[in-house]
Amino acid sequence: MNMIDIIAKRRDGTAHTREEIQFLVAGATNKTIPDYQLSAWLMAAVLNPLSAEETAWLTLEMAASGDRLDLTRLNKPWVDKHSTGGVGDKTTLVALPLMAACGLTAVKMSGRGLGITGGTIDKLESIPGFRTDLSPDQLIDQAIAHGIALTGQTPKLAPADKALYALRDATATVASIPLITSSILSKKIAGGAETLVLDVKAGCGGFMPTLEAAKELAASLKSVAELAGLKTLVAITDMNQPLGRACGNALEIVEAVETLKHDHHCRFAWLCKRLVGMLLWATGKADSVESGHAMARDALESGRAKEKAMEWMEAQGADAAALFADPDGHLPRAKVVRKVFAHQAGWLERMDAATIGRAVVELGGGRSTKDDPIDHAVGIVCEVEVGDRIEDQQLLAVVHARSDEDAEMAIAAVSRAVTVSSSPVDHVPVLLQVI
Ligand code: URA
Repeated sequence: MNMIDIIAKRRDGTAHTREEIQFLVAGATNKTIPDYQLSAWLMAAVLNPLSAEETAWLTLEMAASGDRLDLTRLNKPWVDKHSTGGVGDKTTLVALPLMAACGLTAVKMSGRGLGITGGTIDKLESIPGFRTDLSPDQLIDQAIAHGIALTGQTPKLAPADKALYALRDATATVASIPLITSSILSKKIAGGAETLVLDVKAGCGGFMPTLEAAKELAASLKSVAELAGLKTLVAITDMNQPLGRACGNALEIVEAVETLKHDHHCRFAWLCKRLVGMLLWATGKADSVESGHAMARDALESGRAKEKAMEWMEAQGADAAALFADPDGHLPRAKVVRKVFAHQAGWLERMDAATIGRAVVELGGGRSTKDDPIDHAVGIVCEVEVGDRIEDQQLLAVVHARSDEDAEMAIAAVSRAVTVSSSPVDHVPVLLQVI
């Protein structure tokens, strides 16, 4: 088999055989196909998207390209959640302890942030002592002992995705529904997932800018996941405004801790409970999503989710008592903190997630290339949501920066991100659709 013919087939939109996909994945994994040929194929795949069948083959081959985690020692049912990534998306930090508090075994591999979409591993690394490098055996042992465990991606799992993703990132070939589908699901399959809830973000703060594109990705993820034997529910959720208040690593940990301490009945807490409700229903622990949601609410309100979160963080090396007693005092803090106020009364019409996310990256809270260091302390806390009534001089956001100059940049970004309307604006539901 020859890579030039495979590229030509993709260029001309001719269907691949499974053997051709196998050849491509093996070549990406073993580095026997040069990057320039893989890059040419990736660009051709963006322009002539893979069919559903080709996407399923690519997913399965990538999942089989390295080690596979065997989770069968875990207490049933074990579950996983995955988000396509967004600004202020700290759902895992609350949803995982909620799952465990409701009797599910929550086991997860998380990634780092890239671009404006933050990563759970970066957020957790702002907690002193928190370990994000558990070995597969440590991950499994902890999940058996505590019902909850999380670690960073190991390079041994789906190495073909690692190779292809690095090239996609450098060649403007990330934005392809079949390529995103195979990338996400190959890691989930190799990681031993059984029941999965996927949160596909729709809006300017994520990969899929429109609801239509998000629906297409959601349908692709659902059909390929089911083909691979994964029980999967997909939620499409709003990402035109940041999720919750805090955007920035340590600031998001503070918000998650506050949410675990007291159910704030906000959009963010609601989404965490709903995703867990969906998993409780999918695993047969609840007879409807609504009753699963009520179980999750009870776990939060009773303090059981907070206890579980503390147990989890202690197990992974953090001082949970200190963190929960004084989250601000326990985490890194920025030198410069500045408030941004409204200059007119009305209703908040827009809090543009992409503009806020880019400002957080510029403050140092995210990375532009995958090896950039990040500053855990910086970020932006948005104090209002779309649909809120705003008074003149009301606090809109708080900027946490390393310098006055950085703070000025972020204040200007918040002003650009915000639109205040003189007529009432509806609140936007966080959950747009479930498939
Ligand atoms: N997340 C992934 O893991 N892969 C993609 O291609 C996009 C988002």
